Amino acid sequence: MSVTRVAVIGSGPSGAYTAQLLTEESESPVEVDVFDRLATPFGLVRYGVAPDHPRVKSITTSFAEVFDETPGVRFLGNVEIGRDLSIAELREHYDAVVFAHGAPLDRRLGIDGEDLDGVDAVRQFVSWYQGHPDQAADAFVLQGGTRAVVIGVGNVALDAARMLVREVEDLRKTDIPEHIVEAFAASTIDEVVVIGRRGPAFAKFTNKEFIELLEVDSTDVVIDAADLELDEVQQAHLASDPAAKRLVATFQKAADRGVLGRRKTIRFVFDRTPVEFLGDGTVTGIRLRATSDPSVVEDLPVDLALRSVGYLGKPLEGLPFDERAGVVPSRDSRVIDGDDVVEGVYVAGWIKRGPNGVVGTNRKCALETVESVLADVAARGGASTASSAETVDALLRGRDVRVVDWSDWRAIEAAEIAAGEAVGRERIKLHIRAEQLRAAELAGATAGV
Ligand SMILES: Cc1cc2nc3c(=O)[nH]c(=O)nc-3n(C[C@H](O)[C@H](O)[C@H](O)COP(=O)(O)OP(=O)(O)OC[C@H]3O[C@@H](n4cnc5c(N)ncnc54)[C@H](O)[C@@H]3O)c2cc1C
Repeated sequence: MSVTRVAVIGSGPSGAYTAQLLTEESESPVEVDVFDRLATPFGLVRYGVAPDHPRVKSITTSFAEVFDETPGVRFLGNVEIGRDLSIAELREHYDAVVFAHGAPLDRRLGIDGEDLDGVDAVRQFVSWYQGHPDQAADAFVLQGGTRAVVIGVGNVALDAARMLVREVEDLRKTDIPEHIVEAFAASTIDEVVVIGRRGPAFAKFTNKEFIELLEVDSTDVVIDAADLELDEVQQAHLASDPAAKRLVATFQKAADRGVLGRRKTIRFVFDRTPVEFLGDGTVTGIRLRATSDPSVVEDLPVDLALRSVGYLGKPLEGLPFDERAGVVPSRDSRVIDGDDVVEGVYVAGWIKRGPNGVVGTNRKCALETVESVLADVAARGGASTASSAETVDALLRGRDVRVVDWSDWRAIEAAEIAAGEAVGRERIKLHIRAEQLRAAELAGATAGV
C-alpha cells in the first residue's frame, strides 16, 4: 500500500492536532510534513496565550509528543509558504495540503486618528511582549504616559490589560525576554481603561479570566455600580445565557469591593463607542459616544490605545480568500473557489472558522478536516502521487532555505532554558530569529564533533 503524504501549513494548535489526528485516524500509512514560517513551533500557544497562563501553555508537551514519537511526522520550521514554496508546488509534491496558518492580521475600528503613534492593535502589543521575532524590541515604550485604553471586552483584551499592571516579580516567573521585563518594570502606566461598546451583560471575556484580574494584588478593579443597573435587553440576555449571568454577578462583587487604594487601576467603561482618536502625530485622547444615547460624547485623555476587536486571516497567493470574513472559504473543510472544490486542499483552525474558541476547539475542527482528507484518500483507492521527503528537502536546499527541524527546535529550547538559568529564571525566549538559528547551528556543530 502506498504512503499518503500530507503537508500541513502552520504548527499552531490546528496544525499540530491535524498532524496528530491524521496519523491516529488513518488506516493506511501516512506521512505528515508540518511547515511553519517561524523557526519555532506551536503558533499562538507560544506567541498569543498569556505568559502568566502556564497551564494553557503546557499543551505544548502533548503537541511535542506528536513530533517526538510519531514516525513520519516532521517539523519544517523557517519555511514560509508563499515565499519559499508556492501553493502550486505543494499541490504537486503532496497528496493533500492542509492550511492551518491562523489569522495573523487584525480588524480596525475605521475611525479617525487610528494611525496616530500610540494607537496599536493589541495583536502587536501581545506579539511584542511575547518576544515574537517580527516585533522590534522597542516597538512599545511604556514610560512617560499614565493611562492606557484597551478597546474591546474579550479575553485577549483582558490579557493585555492584566499584563500592563502585572508585578515585575510575576513577569520574571514567565519566559518573556529580559528587555520586555525591563520595559514593564520601567512602565509609568498606572491606569488601564477597558472599553466595551455594549453593556456589561454583553462582555465577551470569561468569568475565570475576570476573577484572575481581581486577584492581581497591585490593582483596583473599578466597575461603576450604575452600569450594573441593566436595561431590559441586557436582562433578557442574562436570562438566556448562564455564563453572562455568572460574569455580571462577579462584576457586582467587584463593584461591592469598591476602591481599595491600590497602586494601579483597571477601570471598565461600558456602553461607549470610540468615534475618534485625538492628537497631532501622537495620540493624546479618545472621543467616546454613549452607544445607547448618541447625544452623550466625552473625551478621555490617553497615552496608549490598543484596539482588541478581532484577529483576521491573511490572503495567500494562489489560495481563495473571503475578504469579508477574513477566512479561506471551505465546505466540509475542503477549500472552495466559488462553488468548486479545490482538489486536495483543506483548511483547519482559525483560517477555516475565524478567530474564535479556545485551544481545544481546534482539535474538533482538525478532526473534521482529517475526516475529509482521509475520505478523499480512500475515494482515490489510497494511491499516492506525492514526491518523497528527500525531493522536498532537496527543493528547499536548492533555494538556500535553512529548514529548522525538530532536533533544531529542541536545541533552541535548550538555549532558552540555559539563558533563563543564567539569570535565575526558568526559561527566557530567544526573540531574534538569527539567535534562534544560531542556537540550532551551534547544537548541530557540537553533535557533529
Ligand atoms: C492573545 C491570545 C491569547 C490567547 N489565549 C488563550 C488561552 O489562554 N487559552 C486558550 O485556550 N486559547 C487562547 N487563545 C486562542 C488560541 O491561541 C487559538 O485558538 C489557536 O492558537 C488557533 O490555532 P491555529 O493553529 O488556527 O492558529 P495559530 O496558533 O495562529 O497558528 C498558525 C501557525 O501558522 C504559521 N504560519 C502562518 N503563515 C504561514 C505561512 N505562510 N507559511 C508557514 N507557516 C505559516 C504561524 O507562524 C503559526 O505558527 C489565545 C489567542 C490569542 C490571540
